[in-house]
Amino acid sequence: MAAPLEYLDVQCPYCGETFAVEVDISAGTQQTIEDCRVCCAPAELYIRIDEEGNIVDVQVSGANT
Ligand SMILES: [Zn+2]
Repeated sequence: MAAPLEYLDVQCPYCGETFAVEVDISAGTQQTIEDCRVCCAPAELYIRIDEEGNIVDVQVSGANT
């Protein structure tokens, strides 16, 4: 069975462009670093996921701020 992946649109804290990231919602609340698809800068993502597997909060920040 495939992992329950969901696509999430996040806004890059550096260039302001929006790009999609893949989130494994079965992993629960997670913190990850994704490179911006546009400017390649590393954006730090904090994704809060509830017990039912819903994404309830997403925070994006620059890794060096
Ligand atoms: Zn960017």
